[in-house]
Amino acid sequence: MEAEGVRILPEKGEARGAGEISPLLRVKGVTLEYAAQKQVVRAAHRIDLDLYQADRFVLLGPSGCGKSSLLKAVGGFLKPIEGEILLEGRPVTEPGPDRVVVFQEFDQLPPWKTALENVAFPLIASRSLPRREARERAAHYLEKVGLAGFAESYPHQLSGGMKQRVAIARALAMRPKILLMDEPFAALDALTRRKMQEELLSLWEEARFTLLFVTHSIEEALVVGSRVALLTPRPGRVRAEINSHEWDLSSAGGEGFQSTARRIHRLLFEEEPSAEASSRRAA
Ligand code: ADP
Ligand code: MG
Repeated sequence: MEAEGVRILPEKGEARGAGEISPLLRVKGVTLEYAAQKQVVRAAHRIDLDLYQADRFVLLGPSGCGKSSLLKAVGGFLKPIEGEILLEGRPVTEPGPDRVVVFQEFDQLPPWKTALENVAFPLIASRSLPRREARERAAHYLEKVGLAGFAESYPHQLSGGMKQRVAIARALAMRPKILLMDEPFAALDALTRRKMQEELLSLWEEARFTLLFVTHSIEEALVVGSRVALLTPRPGRVRAEINSHEWDLSSAGGEGFQSTARRIHRLLFEEEPSAEASSRRAA
């Protein structure tokens, strides 16, 4: 079962040719679990992913399939119970300024700091830059996200979309090796959301950062991603990988786009055995 850029696993890694370039980020056989009161919840099962420089890699799957958990593991906040995560060949063991996360929540910005201070703060706190240079870089990135006129505004004076722009500016200003985004536009209205997707793509055109982006929206995955991994319901396993770069915003919604979206929908929801069977009781 293979057509139009959809590749059903297992078979991976051959696309770029053996030994050509090494991945920026490798997720190798990663299983993630939470110890809840009486049972262990398996959030992700033996995930393999390779991200290359400038990939816009999307993790797509239904709510609860372990997308956020995977992002947390890449961020260094959650330790795999098996497998490993390598960034430029080095194991990820803790959070670091080379991996920055943008979340869905509008309250991820400290409310007592202005937009500029919010963007500058992590640069100063991580001792990446002295204060003055940090503020200059912050101003630069606020301008990039269209908020030059709002540097002195406080979060409560900004709309949801503007707050997300500040969060994106703050992340990009760190110049991370990889930008992690967890459903960053999910709480926005449809029009703002589409606008933010466009802006993210034009920021990427300019800076070519490596992006790991989580969403449960098929459409968003196809618009934002150059590569899309489909995850099964809990515990998440990689079901298929799709090359999505053939879509741009103008073709989104067109015939080919819709048929790919329908195929993804089938893969995600109609051909999977029950996930509950895979949760297991603790001894
Ligand atoms: P997604 O982001 O795809 O919606 P999550 O990674 O948040 O999924 O969650 C995956 C599974 O792990 C879910 O069943 C969820 O209930 C469980 N889970 C997430 N966080 C915790 C936690 N801190 N403690 C226990 N279970 C958790
Ligand atoms: Mg989530």
